[in-house]
Amino acid sequence: MKNLVKSVVSSEFNAEIEIGGVPEDLTIAFGGEIRSNHLIIEGTNRLDIAIAPFHVIEDEQFRLFVLSIKGIKRTLDLLKRAYEFYSSILGKKTAKYTVIETPENYGGQAGKGYALVSGSSLRRKIPANLYHELAHLWNPRVTPETHLSRFFDEAFANYLTALAIREIHGEEAFNSFIENLRRNYEAVLKRFPEAEKLKPSEWGKLGFWELSYTKGALILHDLHQKVGEDFYEILRGIVNSSIIDFHRFKAIVEEVSGLVIDI
Ligand SMILES: [Zn+2]
Repeated sequence: MKNLVKSVVSSEFNAEIEIGGVPEDLTIAFGGEIRSNHLIIEGTNRLDIAIAPFHVIEDEQFRLFVLSIKGIKRTLDLLKRAYEFYSSILGKKTAKYTVIETPENYGGQAGKGYALVSGSSLRRKIPANLYHELAHLWNPRVTPETHLSRFFDEAFANYLTALAIREIHGEEAFNSFIENLRRNYEAVLKRFPEAEKLKPSEWGKLGFWELSYTKGALILHDLHQKVGEDFYEILRGIVNSSIIDFHRFKAIVEEVSGLVIDI
């Protein structure tokens, strides 16, 4: 099996790519539009092209490129349920959504309207990685400096994953996901005890963006518990902002719930 996954990191761009020499038994997987060997994607910040013996499954706005169809119907159902759940709390996204199965250990990645997820993650009892990558579809626009903290993409994606798990798999699964975040955060603290005192707005410039996956999501969990139902209005306020930074986030939290946070 030949496989190619490339990525380019820069600001947003449009791309048209012509792929040649693909053996007949292999299929091109791509997050954008595919017109035989001609690939088109707009407003992306990365390019991922995979060429492998993919099975292509299309259902509603979902398109899956998978290396085996085994267990994939369940994955598709869970993907739809997570999509419905995120849409119900954050607003619908009409765009197509593509999932590309990767070999193990490639790591999950989210691009514009698509995700790369490993086969085992796709078929897990609770496909948290899939829920996480899907949540990135609702990423707000952030200032470049704010982006360094990864708070508004990774912390939110992980906490939205927790909420999707609660919705689809129940309270117990939610609690164990949160507990796992706590354990992972404690493991990070063992390596970097100084991280405990830092605010999310300081993570970016100090290179502690990794905390967004654990502590960041736990901060959101905490906020959710404090403000209750208002949390969903805060989420919508963020998603619908033209641009987000920590000041704007604080202002939204205060406007919606009256709570003053130090973040
Ligand atoms: Zn992510």
